[in-house]
Order: sequence, then structure tokens, then C-alpha cells
Amino acid sequence: ERPIEALERALLETQAQRDRVSAAESVVHWFKCDIRITDNKGLYLASAEAEKHRIPLICMYLISPQDFEAHLTAPVRVDFILRNLRVLKHDLAQLKIPLHVEVVDKRRSIPSRLMELCNIWGAKHVFCNIEYEVDELRRETALVRACSGQGISFSAIADRCVVEPGRLTNSSGAPLRVYSPWHRRWCAYLNQHPSELDPFPVPKMNPANTGDTYPDLFRCEIPQAPRSKWLSEQDRAKFSVMWPAGEHEARDRLSRFLQERADEYQNARNIPSANGTSVLSPHLAAGTLAARTVVREAREASPNQKLTDDRKQGHSRWIGELAFRDFYTSILCYWPYICMNKPLKLEYSNIEWEDNMDHFKKWTDGRTGFPIVDAAMRQLAHTGYMHNRCRMMAASFLAKDLLIDWRMGEKWFMEHLIDGDFASNNGGWGFSASCGADPQPYFRIFNPLLQSDKFDAQGDYIRKWVPELADIQDRKGIHDPYGQGYARVAETNGYPKPMVDHQQSRERALLRYKAGLGRS
Ligand code: FAD
Repeated sequence: ERPIEALERALLETQAQRDRVSAAESVVHWFKCDIRITDNKGLYLASAEAEKHRIPLICMYLISPQDFEAHLTAPVRVDFILRNLRVLKHDLAQLKIPLHVEVVDKRRSIPSRLMELCNIWGAKHVFCNIEYEVDELRRETALVRACSGQGISFSAIADRCVVEPGRLTNSSGAPLRVYSPWHRRWCAYLNQHPSELDPFPVPKMNPANTGDTYPDLFRCEIPQAPRSKWLSEQDRAKFSVMWPAGEHEARDRLSRFLQERADEYQNARNIPSANGTSVLSPHLAAGTLAARTVVREAREASPNQKLTDDRKQGHSRWIGELAFRDFYTSILCYWPYICMNKPLKLEYSNIEWEDNMDHFKKWTDGRTGFPIVDAAMRQLAHTGYMHNRCRMMAASFLAKDLLIDWRMGEKWFMEHLIDGDFASNNGGWGFSASCGADPQPYFRIFNPLLQSDKFDAQGDYIRKWVPELADIQDRKGIHDPYGQGYARVAETNGYPKPMVDHQQSRERALLRYKAGLGRS
């Protein structure tokens, strides 16, 4: 039984008992990756339950440093989450709804603390939105049963995706793992069920005396992100300007993108220097914006009345990219072994990787000698974000040119991305290393010089992130300084020579992949 099916079964088996749970003193909504009050299904249902019984809604967010560590959450992402919580706390307080934020002690588990808090607050109904990683699904399954044993109704709601995982199957009812046919079904499903895009109302105002009943909950402070080697005071100040937090900011960014840039998305999306994408991924990952809101508003702003897989029209193309998020979540649900370090295409489990930490370090430091790859890795280090085209180039370079296990790159990305999301990151790495949800065989190997020439034609992105090369104005020289007569400039400024020969690396990768497949 898959973890998602175990959770569904637990919810079904406890349904009758949960329906019988009587009202108590309060209803709880447990926030996780859904830090918003707008268009939040779990929060809306919790609020409706509280209103039905005329009792207050209490919200909580439990911070588990161990979970952050286990999930490799980047310090920049932790900081962003905590800043989002501050905005959320303020917005909820306007509705007289308290947000209790607590760092859960290492010796305690989240489930035991959650049940303890329910007892303290006299809560018999708990709501949360589902997270689809295996550990989270197992934790919630156990919680449904443990709460039910204590007379508490625990409801886990599907809200992360626009189309819930499991809805789209092939003609024999099996889940799909090829994007194009899946996407056609995704569009058709939403065209047939337009109400799936309807927004969920914001929660109702709590009873007027809630502040007197729970004064401490309104007073509690949201902690600062713990200091780490990487997130200094300076970085924290930098990121708060670079990545303004909160759902208002997220919705403003969405409106600006739809008004100003979505029309041109299909042309600009692959140009890293062009500001052609929405840069909404940090908000979608933190849940300050619902994917449903994004698709609804994009469709309303689009000249197409229906969702289509038209790749030439900006809005459709953009909605199609957003659908990848649902697609990879669906893959995670139906092939959960990808959470256990296994490639989706299991036949790619036996590739012999190079165990070269010196090469890995050059890649992480942005000193490979391939300017486009180095620019990408430095953008990540400086901002916690990397453009999608550059993610593909950097990932392909690690897995194919350096033949370093793609899982090391996947981990590095998670540890540094502000938008780190297991399903999307794993999907992107699987695609780039040819062992994920991609019908193409392994012989598609990006040539970093050609990619650079094509997608950063004027070299603007390279000049921004690799200052050692900023003075090279030559159209060809900027992509390949040592090969195109700019060795002296590069050398003088301390820029390294290419660490590998791409043609030779390509041949080596083809042989290794072939041999790996032969062993499986
Ligand atoms: P836009 O082009 O404006 O797209 C809008 C939204 O659609 C994005 O915010 C994102 O939520 C979604 N989206 C777009 N492309 C993809 C995609 N290929 N896969 C999944 N969702 C997509 N995305 C993450 O959100 N978190 C990750 O950890 C992550 N890791 C990646 C690792 C690799 C190796 C690769 C190749 C891709 C990864 N992506 C990840 C996908 C993609 O690079 C980012 O979502 C995108 O760059 C975010 O920028 P944007 O918001 O401007 O995107």
C-alpha cells in the first residue's frame, strides 16, 4: 500500500467516528506549507467547523529543527518561512484568530506535542492540508488514528495541487508518468470541472472575546531563523530585501507578472537575463500562494477561455509549466520510492559514478571553467534561487560531464534553494540525469557551450555573476574565454580553465550509462 493510500484508508476508516466528535472549546488549523489565509481549503474548513459550533479557531505552526535538518531545508528558506509566519500572524490577528508558533523540543515529536496542545485548548477538531512526502504522509496517517483513539477528529485535506493526485489516469486506470498526455488530461479535467478553480473564502472572524480567552497565544513571538555558517546577519538583511515575505507580496507579484510579462512568457522564459519568468516559486513552495489561485487568475487574464496545451501562447505556456508542479507531486505519490534515493526509472540504478569530491567542490563553488555553469551556481549561492534553464544546465553538467551522482546535486540544491521542494527538485534532477519522468533516452546530453551561446547570447547573465569575465565584450569569448582567445583576461582575473573536455566527457557518459543499463 502506498503512503497516500494508507492515509486515505485511515481517513475513511475513522470517518464515522470523526463525524460523531462533538464540539469542544476550539477548532485547530495546523499550518505547514500553506502559510496564507486566502484560498486555503484546510483553513476554510476549520473556520467553517468553528463557526458551526460558535467556538474559536486557533491556528498553529510547529517548528521542528530536526525536520528542517532531515529535509535539508536551506537556511534561506527557513528564514523566508519565519518571515511569512510574521505576516500571517498579523493577518490572522485582524480576524481575532491567534497563531501559536512553537519550536518543538528535540526530545518530543510533532504528533505528541500536537495532541498535547489540543488537550490544553480543549480542541476536538484538527485540520491541516496534506504534504505528499512519504514521512509526512506516514506521520499524518498515524495522527488520524491516534487522534481518533482520543476522541479527536483529525482531517487531512488535499489542497497542494490544482488537480488532486490520483485523479488523472490512463484508459486502464493506471497513473501516468509521461508529462504531455498527463498535461492534456489535466487541462481537460479542469475544463470539465471549472469549479475546482473556485477560491475558498478567508476564515470568519473569531468570537469577540477570543483575545481574553487566549491572551498568551496572541502574544507569542515568531523566532528568528537560527544562525548558521551560511546565513549571517548580513545575509538575513539581504534576503529580507531580496525576498519580501507574505501572501500580499505573493499576490502583487502574480498580478504584476500577469499584467506585464505573461504575454511574452513563451519567448522570454528560457533567457536567464530576461526577467521573463514569474519568480513565484518561493511563494508556491511556502504556500503563501495557492496553485489554484495562480491558475484561476492566469486563465482569467488569458485570451484563451479554456486551458490548452498551446505552447505558443504565453499564458497557456505558463500554466503548463505550473502544471509540472502537480505532475511531479503526482509522481511522488504513485512512485514513493523516489523519496528513498531511488531513480524513478529503476533501470538507471546501476550507473557507476565518479567519486570525485574535488570536482564536486568546483561545481558547488562555481569554478568549473564553464562560465554559464559557474554563473548559475553563483546565482544560487548569492540569492537562493536559480533560473530554470540554468538549473537544467548545471544539473546536466554535474550528472553527465562530471558523472557525479545526481543525488549529490539534488541534495545541494535542496540545501540552498529558497523554493526547495522535494517533488519538483527530484523531478528536475531526474529529468536532467535522464533517470526521471522523461521519455527521452540518456543520450540527450547538453553541450554547456552551445546552451550558453543559445540562451545567454549576449553573455549578460554570465557578466552579472562571473565578474572575472565582465570585461569580455566578444560574443563568442564570453562563453568560452580559453577557447576563443581570451585566456589572458580570464587568467589575470583568476578565472579557471575548463575542468573537463566536453566531447570526451560526453563519450564517457554515454559508455557509462550504457554499461549501467546493461547491468540492470
Ligand atoms: P515560472 O517559469 O514562472 O513558473 C511558474 C511556477 O511553475 C514556478 O514558480 C513553479 O512553481 C512551477 N514550475 C515551473 N517549472 C517547473 C518545473 N520544471 N517543475 C516543477 N514546477 C515548475 N522548482 C521548485 O519549485 N522547487 C525546486 O526545488 C526545484 N528544483 C529544480 C531542480 C532542477 C534540477 C530543475 C531542472 C528544476 C527545478 N525546479 C524546482 C523547477 C523550476 O526550475 C522552478 O520552479 C522555476 O525555475 C521557478 O522559477 P519561476 O517561479 O520564475 O518559474
